Amino acid sequence: GREWHLLSRPVGWPKPEDFALVEAEVPAPGEGQVLVRNEYLSVDPYMRGRMSAAKSYVAPYELGKAMQGGAVGEVVASNAEGIAAGDHVLHFLGWREYAVVDAKNAVKVDPEAAPLPAYLGVLGMTGLTAYAGLLRTAAFKEGDCVFVSGAAGAVGSQVGQIAKLRGASRVIGSAGSDEKVKLLVEEYGFDAAFNYRTGPVSEQLRAAAPDGIDVYFDNVGGDHLEAAIGSLNRDGRIAVCGMISVYNNTEPAPGPRNLARLIQTRGRIEGFLVGDHYDLQPQFVQEVGPWVRSGELKYRETVVEGIENNLEAFLGVLRGDNTGKMIVKL
Ligand code: NDP
Repeated sequence: GREWHLLSRPVGWPKPEDFALVEAEVPAPGEGQVLVRNEYLSVDPYMRGRMSAAKSYVAPYELGKAMQGGAVGEVVASNAEGIAAGDHVLHFLGWREYAVVDAKNAVKVDPEAAPLPAYLGVLGMTGLTAYAGLLRTAAFKEGDCVFVSGAAGAVGSQVGQIAKLRGASRVIGSAGSDEKVKLLVEEYGFDAAFNYRTGPVSEQLRAAAPDGIDVYFDNVGGDHLEAAIGSLNRDGRIAVCGMISVYNNTEPAPGPRNLARLIQTRGRIEGFLVGDHYDLQPQFVQEVGPWVRSGELKYRETVVEGIENNLEAFLGVLRGDNTGKMIVKL
């Protein structure tokens, strides 16, 4: 089977020469392992961090070895109790066609209960990120006015809709194209949305939220964060989920110039990692699953086909090619 290797650590925007698609032998599963034929691969912004050597919350990808990431596939051979050939599993050895996975790192998923890619997105890691970040880190409550950036993406689109379904007074989103802005308002039910590329974020946010915001869910950082601090109401909360605008920077980005507003607003900024919130997974599935099934919570996926396009799909996420979760279908 083929697998993607990292050859050199990208500086700035990753270049195709930093990677190679390599033919690798597929070993038989050892004791307690299963062999999986991957069907859907996840590409996510955090992978950019793993391409760097810098110490972080997950280990850097090793040079000359297969990269990793979320994946769903069919078990084709099992040497583990509780998992049989024909079962479908969610695991962490993406970026490859076939994976030998320790059964303890594989979670069985039901293709009848939800389409397989949903376990990587709307009912998976990005969905839980939205749920935990909004409800726990930002301590969202009914009546809050919520602003979310990256609002047409996997996490952001779910943040806005969960806030609406949970009784937000107003939900505002920002995204990088007029088409995405239209989708937010017309399909996802956002009260207002704007294209951050067509004018200063602070001005557009002030126009969209004349009475200020109570919660900002940050996927982007940079001028979005500064604008949110500028519009923050008393006791406002900012959940820092991601800062995609700086992931390819080679120099540290300037910080928000208006942090002093946190004093008068008694505002709070807090970062979070979804990995710390898996205790919420059952509650998340119980609450959000029915909304997805009923269509009250809508979602899109951008599906790119073929292992040879895995890298392009990843780069596409950094560029904004995706609407909703970016998925690679094998
Ligand atoms: P998305 O589906 O939102 O895809 C990323 C989007 O970011 C693109 O579609 C693009 O949309 C937008 N973007 C790219 N560059 C910029 C920029 N310079 N300024 C503004 N927007 C930009 O990805 P996810 O939903 O998977 O992730 C969203 C965020 O959440 C990321 O920052 C990610 O790192 C973070 N995250 C954090 C987790 C945690 O545990 N803390 C877990 C999962 C994700 P557009 O067209 O609008 O520019």
